[in-house]
Amino acid sequence: MDEIQSEIHEECGVFGVYSQENRNVALTAYYGLYALQHRGQESAGIAVAYADKIEYHKGMGLVPEVFAGGNLEKLPEGDMAIGHVRYSTTGASQLLNAQPVVFTGKCGKMALAHNGNLVNTAQLRSEMIARNAVFQTTIDSEVMAVVINALSDGDILNGVMRACPLFKGSYALVIMTTDKLIAVRDPFGMRPLCLGTLEDDYVVASESCALDAVGAAFLRDVKPGEIVVIDAHGLRSYMMENVPGSRMCIFEYVYFARHDSVIDGCSVYESRRKAGELLARYYPADADLVAGVPDSANVAARGYADESGIPFVEALAKNRYVGRTFIQPDQSQRENSLAVKLNAIRANIRGKRVVIVDDSIVRGTTMRKIIKMLRTAGAREVHIRICSPVVRYPCYFGIDIQTSTQLIGAGRSEDEICASLGADSVRYLSEEHLLKACSKVRGGFCLGCFNGEYPYPRADANGGKLKFE
Ligand code: SF4
Repeated sequence: MDEIQSEIHEECGVFGVYSQENRNVALTAYYGLYALQHRGQESAGIAVAYADKIEYHKGMGLVPEVFAGGNLEKLPEGDMAIGHVRYSTTGASQLLNAQPVVFTGKCGKMALAHNGNLVNTAQLRSEMIARNAVFQTTIDSEVMAVVINALSDGDILNGVMRACPLFKGSYALVIMTTDKLIAVRDPFGMRPLCLGTLEDDYVVASESCALDAVGAAFLRDVKPGEIVVIDAHGLRSYMMENVPGSRMCIFEYVYFARHDSVIDGCSVYESRRKAGELLARYYPADADLVAGVPDSANVAARGYADESGIPFVEALAKNRYVGRTFIQPDQSQRENSLAVKLNAIRANIRGKRVVIVDDSIVRGTTMRKIIKMLRTAGAREVHIRICSPVVRYPCYFGIDIQTSTQLIGAGRSEDEICASLGADSVRYLSEEHLLKACSKVRGGFCLGCFNGEYPYPRADANGGKLKFE
């Protein structure tokens, strides 16, 4: 599933840099966020700490748009910076909800950027309001910042250590005061977060591709349940209590992460290629060519082609100038929007039996159009091969799959899905084979949208009551 389908969205990307030498930390954060742009295209922001101040700029749009017109240059030189790119999973898509969240509290100036989604935000928010807290936004990240501040007693590490057990859900956080940069990964490690070094500086990022973009060397992943503090004394690590086994979101490997990233010891590229190979081995098709839905499924399609011996041929051309922010103002224009983004390459597919590899199908509306487009262009047969199991359940942890009724896979067999899509055959990778494709990952997985088993009970998604001690 590619961005062209606009069926499912990443949640956010976070970045942080602590510098001993390079004062232009805003520029480092800018390049880091640029590399994380695939994780969120609605808004971007950078906050810089210098002396006892934090200055920031955030806005709606892509990273280069938000920081055009001198907005990057206006940010001061500093000791630290954190940045954020956002796709709205909680809270409306508006400037007020853009991150980092910046405010003055018990620890002085503080900024926080969050990737993930809490399932008990409403309870935490109402409990904080009962304690006279005020909120400016509708995002769970502000709730986290307010809870951390409330429990800090003026010591940010105390605040983080006391607040994290109250947070239920997925979170990869970068937090900045005027003298500390803190990186936190939730106890299940559901969202990725890694550390790097850039000469004497430290860098924190959602994905290793952002470390590469700023010239940093990969140091290690932040562990599930780990709180990393970076300040003038260097890097220190603290662990939360009662950390369960990790449950990384397997969809990061299926679709969200960039394929040049390495997460928890596993190359995203290798996992996708392996998924394509396994798909070919266990779900073969009698066909003349294999093609991927560009760009995200091309790696898996090449794996399928190599394993099956069927040639990899491009069947679909993507318009690279249509971003994920492509505006679809009304229904009639929406109907035509796919043709603007994607087109069948007639010369390659006319009269051919085509295997189309994609990473996942969520609602199915785009895949239905792709199949129709291929048939109109002359494809004799269209066989769909998907590099993940059937998406049957919603996600409560920061991915935009809100209800089962939106899903083509909810309550349908593969044959029923095939009939609904209008394909000649549809086959999905099994859970077992997807796990095999990701077998280099250290730790376990959340597979909730495939099997309904989540790290937190589903009841918590509606709000388990939490009390401040
Ligand atoms: S439910 Fe699916 S998308 Fe959501 S965190 Fe789990 S594996 Fe990821």
